[in-house]
Amino acid sequence: MLAQISSSVYVETGHLGSNNGIVVGDDGAVVLIDAPHKPTDAEQWATRVAEFGTVTYLVHTDHHPDHVIGNAWLPGTVVAHEGTRRRLLREPLSREYLDDLYAVIDPTAVDDERSFSPRLPEITFNDRLTLQCGHLTVELHHVSGHTVNTIVALVPEEGVIFTGDNVCPAGLPSFQDSSVARWFDALDRIERLDFDVLVGGHGEPAGREAIDRYREEGSALIREVAEGMERGRSKNDLMNHIRFPDRLHVGTESYAGYPDQLIELFQRRSVDRIYEDLSMDWSLANRLTAAAT
Ligand SMILES: [Zn+2]
Repeated sequence: MLAQISSSVYVETGHLGSNNGIVVGDDGAVVLIDAPHKPTDAEQWATRVAEFGTVTYLVHTDHHPDHVIGNAWLPGTVVAHEGTRRRLLREPLSREYLDDLYAVIDPTAVDDERSFSPRLPEITFNDRLTLQCGHLTVELHHVSGHTVNTIVALVPEEGVIFTGDNVCPAGLPSFQDSSVARWFDALDRIERLDFDVLVGGHGEPAGREAIDRYREEGSALIREVAEGMERGRSKNDLMNHIRFPDRLHVGTESYAGYPDQLIELFQRRSVDRIYEDLSMDWSLANRLTAAAT
């Protein structure tokens, strides 16, 4: 359901995939944050957002399909970190992968050609970019963490931040494209920004306390991997056994979730990433698990 979270910012948390934000300027300009994952949701979203004004920009917080794919159905100039454009160009998802995925999550979209080619970002930046939206500004900050190209969008006049998957009140995301050390730095950096309402990549809007909860959840997982390593368990063994709750890709009453084997793959790759990052720099183990209580 679409919720108004400040006088000019709205968010839809009920789509499979990322949260989708709407920022409305007093001149009828609209900036969108992230796109629906399912083509059928994206089509309806295009109609819904048109009620708020004219979409000028569509911002992507990272390159993952659950944030990007719906952009083919939406208006607005696509804005993202330059690394997001690079990833989309260099590593497009295969037709086979998307066919299999849509057969489960959005069967009516399987035959729709557009679902397989998200629009590439037309405006990219490296460090900072500010978009104007009527009386509001949308400050985009590169905050590498969940992916190296993750950005956050801050609307200072409204005290609202969109953190992408750097913070997910719904639960931990996949770590497969993350740098574990940078992700924790990202949490510290987000904490230093000025806002009251936090819209994570997935899950309900929250307050600043969501950052601490997320840090603790992440620390607990990293500690589990670190403890396994200390006992001499192999990476494969840990990948086979360590599991954390996936609340981002599973189905709900209102939509079908990802196929089980993909969810399993994300878990394995997450443990793999954490293991590799700790192997390269064991001092991270102490630093990062200090937050787990
Ligand atoms: Zn996501």
